[in-house]
Amino acid sequence: MLKKIVLLGPPGSGKGTQARRLAETLGFLHLSTGDMLREEVKQNTELGGKAKRIMEKGDLAPDDLIAAMIESRLGPAGDGFILDGFPRTVAQAEALDKMLSDAGQAIDRAFLVDVSDEEVVQRLLGRARIEGRSDDTLAVITNRLEVYKRQTEPIVKYYSDGNVLTRINGEQQIEHVFADLEAAITR
Ligand code: AMP
Repeated sequence: MLKKIVLLGPPGSGKGTQARRLAETLGFLHLSTGDMLREEVKQNTELGGKAKRIMEKGDLAPDDLIAAMIESRLGPAGDGFILDGFPRTVAQAEALDKMLSDAGQAIDRAFLVDVSDEEVVQRLLGRARIEGRSDDTLAVITNRLEVYKRQTEPIVKYYSDGNVLTRINGEQQIEHVFADLEAAITR
């Protein structure tokens, strides 16, 4: 059983849904930096104020701030966890490796939930209509995709070079994506 898991994927890949379900099914900790930031916004904290402006543009929050947020929640990383939306830059991936290696641990597997650009745009526009997320307008969607390509996609190579990357076809039905992930984790 794999226990220390990263879920990677473009915005709209469905990784958040999968991470929540996997964590629930496997009894793992689910850590979503996007959820944490949205909670800060809701609570009107100082961090929330800064995060709101960044999120509305589809840009990324500063690496050190995000890494500290994760570190404070990871605790003794003995039990299973699923990281969702973190790391989003190579610097964050390196910070995560450092946090874990300081505790004699390492990531077991990084799964890339693979979805094409065209499909991502369609899904995000659909979600904008349904959920009214303020970071789902066309301009912001385009920026989020660009930010993903430029800043987050290099992590795919980082984990691939580290021999911990597994690609999952994210264009299947939700149930099938889940089954592929669960099988790979529990095999
Ligand atoms: P998400 O819900 O994962 O799509 O995240 C929503 C927004 O929160 C992103 O577009 C970023 O602005 C911000 N965010 C979430 N996770 C991170 C991260 N690991 N590093 C920097 N910014 C983040």
